[in-house]
Parts: sequence; structure tokens; C-alpha cells
Amino acid sequence: MPELPEVETVVRTLAPQMLGRRIEAARVLHEKSLAAGKALLPRLRGARIESLHRRAKLVIIELRPAHGGRLFLLFHLKMTGRLFVHGEQIEPCKHTRLVFVLGDDAGHDSDGKGRQLFFDDARKFGYCRIMRDKDFAHWDFWNSLGPEPLMCSCEEFVARCRERRGKIKALLLDQTFVAGIGNIYADEILFRAGIAPQHAVLCLSSAQFGVLWEQMREVLREAIEHCGSSVRDYRDAHGNAGAFQNSFRVYGHAGRPCRACGSILEKSVVAGRGTVHCPNCQK
Ligand SMILES: [Zn+2]
Repeated sequence: MPELPEVETVVRTLAPQMLGRRIEAARVLHEKSLAAGKALLPRLRGARIESLHRRAKLVIIELRPAHGGRLFLLFHLKMTGRLFVHGEQIEPCKHTRLVFVLGDDAGHDSDGKGRQLFFDDARKFGYCRIMRDKDFAHWDFWNSLGPEPLMCSCEEFVARCRERRGKIKALLLDQTFVAGIGNIYADEILFRAGIAPQHAVLCLSSAQFGVLWEQMREVLREAIEHCGSSVRDYRDAHGNAGAFQNSFRVYGHAGRPCRACGSILEKSVVAGRGTVHCPNCQK
């Protein structure tokens, strides 16, 4: 599943291809891919794309509809969702679930050609929601999200850790604790912090939480710089793979020697997820 660095990369690669354009039409090819806001579909016509950003693992596209107000297109890519901007002549493929036809009136950046935003999703777990400002208040998932890991101060992070119980890896994966970290980055962060994934949160010191906070930021920043990780089929909005998988120290390396100490990396199940760690470097 694309995690924070992959979704950030998708947003960064989508933005220059979409900003300033207007939506001319929207086609729903698979009903369930539009999880909310069906009644708002007619308001998309003529809406201008104002900005793109990311929150947790969500792609958020802010729109200015023709008749005023604000609308948002939110995408959760889940397992296999992808967002691509294509030329106006391209036909949807068998995995295309939603199509947004984009006009060519992007001002001085316009190349005079229409484009289309495709939401492709082979496994169909991903979704799009069309939202008004007031809809956010009633969306439990949105309201439950923890802070962004790159915006959360060390003090806040440590204080939040202190309120929790359970295993440290489960905590990192919990989107209500911090938002955007998944299985890959949880393993990489814990390796760099020298903390075993199954370690009880209760038994960790404030100093260890501080190191965890530091390494969390380091790993996520580095991964964003490398345009994310392509383990299976993740691609950015240009169709390019990320490169951070080449920097993995533990994820996918079970049974191989640790790069730091040479011990054999162990595979286990923590928080219901396949987990790899070094029994020597992580305590
Ligand atoms: Zn090691």
C-alpha cells in the first residue's frame, strides 16, 4: 500500500499537470470507487483546480466550482490505486474506475490540449470522495487521524507515546496515533531507532521515544527525496517507480545479514503484519 512518502510523491507529480485546469466532465466507471459525494458530481463541471496536497495517505485536490464555494476531491489509493494524467485521446483501461476530463485553460502554462485524470484501481479497495467543507466534520475517519509525523513536535510525540499501551510497531501503524506510516516505514524506522518492533510502549524511555521521533522524520524525509518506494506496483503520476526500496535496511530482507552488524535478520508477525528486524541492533 502506498504510504506517506508515496502519496506525497503522487501529489507532487500530479500538481504541475493539473493546477489551474478546469474539470469539464467526470465519468464513474465503477460505482463503488466513488465512496461519497455522488450528488455533488454535477458541481464538478467547470470547477477550477486550485491546489493539491496530502494528509495522511490521502490525496486532496481543492476545487473552486463555477458557482462559488469550495469542493474537494479526496483519493485513498489503498492497495493498488493510481492517479495518472493522460492526453485527451487515451481510452480508459480495464482497471480505470473514474475519469475526470480536464480542460486546457490553464492560463500561461496551457499547451492548448485537454487532459484526463484517471483513477485506476485493479483491486478496487481505493476510493474517491467528493466533499464540501462541512462534510469533513461528519467524516469519522478524517476526524480520527493523528498528527502528520513531519509536523508533530518531539514534545507532542513523546507525550502521545506516554498515553499509549501495546507494542511499539502497532503504535506506529495506528493512524490515530500518527497518520501516514504503514508496514514498510514502521520496520525501517524501528530499525534505525534500534528498538525491537514487539517492544512494549510502556517500557520505553523518553530518550528512546525521542530517538524514534528523530528516525521517523529522517526515514520519511529520505523516502520522499527518493520519490517513495516501489515494492510491488506503486508508480508516481508520471508512471515512474520510486527508489527508496534500494535503501531498505530490513523490509524484505528477512534471512539476510544485517547491514550494520551481520546478524541474520528475523521475520515475525507483530501487530498482525509481517515484520523484519535485527535481533542484535534492535532491543
Ligand atoms: Zn544488526
